Amino acid sequence: MTTLYLTNKNCSVCGESNRFPLVDLSQKLTGIRDLDGRPSHIQRSLVYMWIQRCESCNYCAPDISAECKVDPSYINSPEYKGIIDDVSFPLTAVAFRAHSFLMTSMGSFADSGWALLCAAWVCDDNGAPANAIVCRKEALTHFRYAQEKNQEFSQSHVEENLILIDIMRRIGDFDAAMELCDQELQTDHPDTIWLLLDYEKVLIGKNDTACHNESDMEEMGL
Ligand SMILES: [Zn+2]
Repeated sequence: MTTLYLTNKNCSVCGESNRFPLVDLSQKLTGIRDLDGRPSHIQRSLVYMWIQRCESCNYCAPDISAECKVDPSYINSPEYKGIIDDVSFPLTAVAFRAHSFLMTSMGSFADSGWALLCAAWVCDDNGAPANAIVCRKEALTHFRYAQEKNQEFSQSHVEENLILIDIMRRIGDFDAAMELCDQELQTDHPDTIWLLLDYEKVLIGKNDTACHNESDMEEMGL
């Protein structure tokens, strides 16, 4: 059973009380994921609850009441204000982008990359494809920084690269996506990984930039 309720959170930066919806998932949900890791079913829409924004100081974090480890000067910086004020992005995407900026300030590129990919999902949902591309390009850059600094952002290196391949495909960088696919196909992997690499190759070969998930792969008979 899934329960939705409201809770008050005191911002750890300015102390202001904010009210947020929270979800209590009493059963673990598993299901088909998109090729870039976005979950399905109820969890798909829960992305809108993964980030909180303080209405007073605009601090954005998964839990604004948890101790803030970010230097407050970043929250007061013109760069942060510029992200918060950029209304060309959907509101939840703005919050993820702001959180990404703060994670970047701490050198946490795995976290900043995921925040940007979540921002892209929100842009997808809100019919903002150009904004989604901007967020995916930034996510790609941040995930590459994460790899350079040995910060893990998925279960294994090849699964990280599958996320990069899908991001590159979604932004239309087919040559780079194909090159990374071919590079991984020269290495030994479990069958499930081979199937995903093969499926990405098929989609890249068709210049397909659409969102696909693992069940689409089964329909193709892969
Ligand atoms: Zn605050």
